[in-house]
Amino acid sequence: MIIQLKNDISPEQRAGIMEKLAKLNIDAKSVKTQVREYIVGIAKGDFDLRCVGSMEGIADIHRVSEQYKMVSGKWKLNPTVIDLGDGVKIGDGGLAIMAGPCAIENEAQIESAVNHLLQNNIRIMRGGVFKPRSSPYSFRGLGIDGLKLFYKHCSANGIKVITEVMQVSQVEEMADYVDIFQVGARNSQNFNLLEVLGQVDKPVMIKRGISGTIDELLYSAEYVFSGGNEKILLCERGIRTFERSTRNTLDLSAVPLLKEKSHLPVIVDPSHGVGIRKHVPPMALAGVMSGADGVIMEVHETPEKAFSDGMQSLYYPQAEKLYGQLRQTKELVSSF
Ligand code: PEP
Ligand code: MN
Repeated sequence: MIIQLKNDISPEQRAGIMEKLAKLNIDAKSVKTQVREYIVGIAKGDFDLRCVGSMEGIADIHRVSEQYKMVSGKWKLNPTVIDLGDGVKIGDGGLAIMAGPCAIENEAQIESAVNHLLQNNIRIMRGGVFKPRSSPYSFRGLGIDGLKLFYKHCSANGIKVITEVMQVSQVEEMADYVDIFQVGARNSQNFNLLEVLGQVDKPVMIKRGISGTIDELLYSAEYVFSGGNEKILLCERGIRTFERSTRNTLDLSAVPLLKEKSHLPVIVDPSHGVGIRKHVPPMALAGVMSGADGVIMEVHETPEKAFSDGMQSLYYPQAEKLYGQLRQTKELVSSF
C-alpha cells in the first residue's frame, strides 16, 4: 500500500495515521522525496483500504501488492519524466540519446566527442572516469580530475553528463560535476550505494545486474526511491547467459516488461548488450522498437585506439547515420 500524504499534513495527522496502521498490523515506512511525502505500508493480513483512506492528511491511497512499491506503475498516474534542465528531458515521449566514449581518456578526446555530439544535436554525453574493469591492470579511469574536465567541456556546451559512480565515498565529491549518476551492472545490487543515491537530488540510472532479473532491477530502484530520490532511470544492458558469441545477451523483452511494471523511463545499452561494433546499430534500433525511452551507446573518434571497449564503440560516421535512424524509428513507434 502506498499512502500519498497531503503537503500540508500536520504532525498530529501523521501520528494518527501511523497509529492506525500499527493497530491494523501494517508495517509502515515513511518515504520523503524531493516531490512529496509518502507512507509505504506492508500489510500482514487483509484490511479495508477505506479505514485508512478516509483519514485526514491523506491525498491518495493505493493498493500495490508487489514487493517493490514506489517504483511500481500501479499507483502513479503519469510516467516519470526526468528533467535535466535546459530543455533536456527523458521519458517525455521523445528519444533520449546518450553517447560518448566508454572512458574519458584526455582533454582532446572530450573535445572531439563534444563536437561530435553538438553536430548531431545530442544533449547527453556518457563517459566513465571510475571504470569497473575485470582486470586490475586495465585502464581504470581518470578519476575525479577527469570528471571535472569532462563536466567543464560539457556544461560549457549545454551537454549533460552521465558517468558511473562505483562507491559510496565518491557520491559527494562527484555530485557537482554530474547530471546523471550511473550505477553499473556490477553495482546493481550495491544496496549501500543505492541508499546513498537516494539522498542526492540528481537522477540515477541503474543498470541491470550481469545476472540480475527484471524484478531485482526494480528492487534496486526501490532502494533509491525509498531513500528519497524519485529521479530514476532503468537500463537494460544485457545479461550473462550460456551464449558466448555476443558479449552479453541483450534482453529486449525487459523493455516492455519494465514499462508495464514501472513508471520509470527505460534506457537500452546496445554497446555492452552485444559488444560487437557492427551489431550495435540493429540492436539500438530494436531497443527503440521495443519501447525504450532512450539509448546509451559508446562512440569514439578512433575506436581501435580506445582505452576500453573499442571493439563495441562506433566510429563517428557510423554513429551519425544511426542517430537519424533512431529518431525516425522513435517517430514510427510513437505513431502506432
Ligand atoms: C559502462 O557503461 O561503461 C559500463 C561499465 O557498463 P556496465 O556496468 O553495463 O558493464
Ligand atoms: Mn564500456
